[in-house]
Amino acid sequence: MKTLILGGTREARELAALAAGERGFDIVSSLAGRVREPLLPVGEVRVGGFGGVDGLREWLADNGIEVIVDATHPFAEGITANAAAAAASLGLPVLHVRRPAWTETEGDHWIRVPNLAWAAETVATVGERVFLTIGRQGVSAFADLDQQWFLIRAIDPPEGALPPRHELLLARGPFTIAEEVRLMTEHCIDVLVTKDSGGAQTEAKLAAARGLGLPVVVVDRPALPPAAVTVETVAAAWDWLRRHRDSRPRRA
Ligand code: NAP
Repeated sequence: MKTLILGGTREARELAALAAGERGFDIVSSLAGRVREPLLPVGEVRVGGFGGVDGLREWLADNGIEVIVDATHPFAEGITANAAAAAASLGLPVLHVRRPAWTETEGDHWIRVPNLAWAAETVATVGERVFLTIGRQGVSAFADLDQQWFLIRAIDPPEGALPPRHELLLARGPFTIAEEVRLMTEHCIDVLVTKDSGGAQTEAKLAAARGLGLPVVVVDRPALPPAAVTVETVAAAWDWLRRHRDSRPRRA
């Protein structure tokens, strides 16, 4: 079954690894090509944008794709919408894999906001030394904040305007709680900003902030396309894929 996995996440790599050893799957993983040294999935990989919905639709048809698994990051809103639209127009099944969002627990002081612009407005009122962990994209939403100092952590350098007072820390998780506590303490951080990415990979910072009694500005996820078929785990996505493979008409 010719399958496109839209990736750039641990879930996508795990799914490609599961399918690699299984009969009846022909998998292509797709990466946007944003990270300079990406963690590559096993098997066939293509890199770079498709050229919007039309480009994706053409690519799907040219490559005989039968099913799509959108295992992109919960904030990769554009490619998710494109996958849903292109799949609908070709009548292809598409599954969205979305790990569960993080939930606030006792001792947390979270301020949930709908987007990065809102996060920047909020930060201006709650802290002076900000740990910004939203990845490489969207940092320019904070560029006008000249009263705050920022520790900006990302895998690759952010593009666009940056806040005037900052230090850039290039690093790829996972990080331990102890490492996060040390980092926040050393830099006298008084507020953490994160997207609600979910998952275990980057949640240590939340436990560290809880332990240190720091407020956390949490940017809510964008909505999924209407009527999206969604699962939360790789295991559920793998079940879905195998069911699709097994229900295909057999070739004579
Ligand atoms: P996005 O805003 O949804 O996508 C913008 C454009 O990038 C898409 O329209 C598409 O270009 C291209 N693109 C995105 N993901 C692609 C993929 N897997 N394969 C081929 N083209 C892709 O996406 P994003 O937020 O920039 O994320 C880019 C990649 O980084 C995704 O694979 C995502 O899983 C990963 N990632 C994102 C975040 C995050 O916070 N956003 C965090 C970790 C990992 P065309 O229109 O030309 O097809």
